[in-house]
Amino acid sequence: MALRYIRSYDDELLRKKSRPVEAISNKILTLLDDMKDTVISANGLGLAAPQVGVLRRVVVVRHEDAYYEMINPEIIETRDTQIKSEACLSVPGKQGKVERPAYVKVRATNRDGEEYEVEGTDILAVGFCHELDHLDGILFIDKAVEIVDRDDDEDDEEI
Ligand code: ZN
Repeated sequence: MALRYIRSYDDELLRKKSRPVEAISNKILTLLDDMKDTVISANGLGLAAPQVGVLRRVVVVRHEDAYYEMINPEIIETRDTQIKSEACLSVPGKQGKVERPAYVKVRATNRDGEEYEVEGTDILAVGFCHELDHLDGILFIDKAVEIVDRDDDEDDEEI
């Protein structure tokens, strides 16, 4: 088990575009293992590789009993819109309302190199969009209509 340091929004690395994973090396598998430990330890809903300083297209998303490891994820379908309050492990203490698709379908590769598709609505759709944005150097504060200090009573998980 290894926890990785989560970079904050003023770190320039978070603004860079991540490169695709070409081969699922031991390094990528260790990254996935460490991201899992890190996102659980931080009580987050998701984490993208650039947040731990790795500019590769890798994200993890937790939702209820499900846990998604996504290598080279792509949004292949969206439907409708929703506006929800978001937070981010890289933007501590802040939250803001962001408009996102209400439904998304994502295609990704798992750690065994198998391609899969997963659909998300509600907060899971938000999570997929939020984490995939990180791979293009985009933070929720770029899209939020209003950014306020976090109300810790509202929810205790961060995307
Ligand atoms: Zn984030």
